[in-house]
Amino acid sequence: KLTGTDIPSAQYGGRHGVTMLPGGGIGPELMGYVREIFRYCGAPIDFEVIDIDPSTEGNDDLDYAITSIKRNGVALKGNIETKSQSLSEVSRNVAIRNELDLYVNVVHCKSYPGIPARHQNVDVVLIRQNTDGEYAMLEHESVRGVVESMKVVTVENAERVARYAFEYARQNNRKKVTTIHKANIMKLSDGLFLEVANRVHKDYPELEHNNMIIDNTCMQAVSNPHQFDVMNMTNLYGTIVSNVICGLIGGAGLISGRNYGDHHAVFEPGTRNTGTAIAGKNIANPVAMINASIDMLNHLGHKEHANVIQEAVYQTIVDDAIRTPDLGGTHSSTDVVQNILKILSAKRVN
Ligand code: ADP
Ligand code: MG
Repeated sequence: KLTGTDIPSAQYGGRHGVTMLPGGGIGPELMGYVREIFRYCGAPIDFEVIDIDPSTEGNDDLDYAITSIKRNGVALKGNIETKSQSLSEVSRNVAIRNELDLYVNVVHCKSYPGIPARHQNVDVVLIRQNTDGEYAMLEHESVRGVVESMKVVTVENAERVARYAFEYARQNNRKKVTTIHKANIMKLSDGLFLEVANRVHKDYPELEHNNMIIDNTCMQAVSNPHQFDVMNMTNLYGTIVSNVICGLIGGAGLISGRNYGDHHAVFEPGTRNTGTAIAGKNIANPVAMINASIDMLNHLGHKEHANVIQEAVYQTIVDDAIRTPDLGGTHSSTDVVQNILKILSAKRVN
């Protein structure tokens, strides 16, 4: 086990309760597809669906969602819109990660063969500090016309994420960890992040460890992403690099992301988009959310269900080339889902 994350024990009948937060935009329709697939193949999951209305004042929905995740230990999540610019309203997405101390985010960017993309054969694991750094949300206007924003790096969190990165590399037979930073400018904060990574590396002498400055990282990722293996990043650099690399291999609709703390795990699409502009049009790519649901099944130990759904997704977009417009295809979201169901039916897993 990579993190200390508790794996909830199954209830009577081998079933697990999982919190489902559809969020806004395309979230609800994507969750509908996941539920259809799970029902079809008899995945032993009981979803507790909690809608969070982004336009409400106060945090009742949010508190209820967090309580539910604490009880179930696991959630599947869409992106919750942050409508207000008001300082008193923090992003509910960030609030959930902070409240549950989901300190690490993992996005495995692996190309699907034959999908039109800038690069083929990419296989990079992006590991991101998920709770502090530039997302500390400590901003203020110290005097009129001067705004200050604090970036917080702690030894504890830098160490937890670095250790996760090296441990992941060791357990998954990876060779190299690259720590991403801007320590030439942010000497104390990023300097600490890098120093901690260098120290943690001493416990993993069989692995190579190098470091790269964030701006050069973006250029290197675009021109030659194959040089990367596992990446260890602060919060903001992590989201930027995840978006760059997901974009290189097929966009926002493909890759899933996992968030772990010591007690809870939250699964979601890797680039965390709301997709407001494409909602309700039957064109959103359902794959990233389905992949998140597969990660969730694997986490809970339902490997067989995870594997059959994973094979059906792969066959649909790679072999059968049933693809939504974001992947250069002409198919609808429901065409993709129907094809997945057809494959599951042929395998008679239900
Ligand atoms: P954000 O929520 O960060 O504002 P957007 O919703 O604007 O992000 O998404 C960024 C881009 O990715 C948009 O062009 C959106 O249409 C696209 N996108 C996001 N998710 C999907 C998806 N599942 N399928 C297809 N395109 C997607
Ligand atoms: Mg947007």
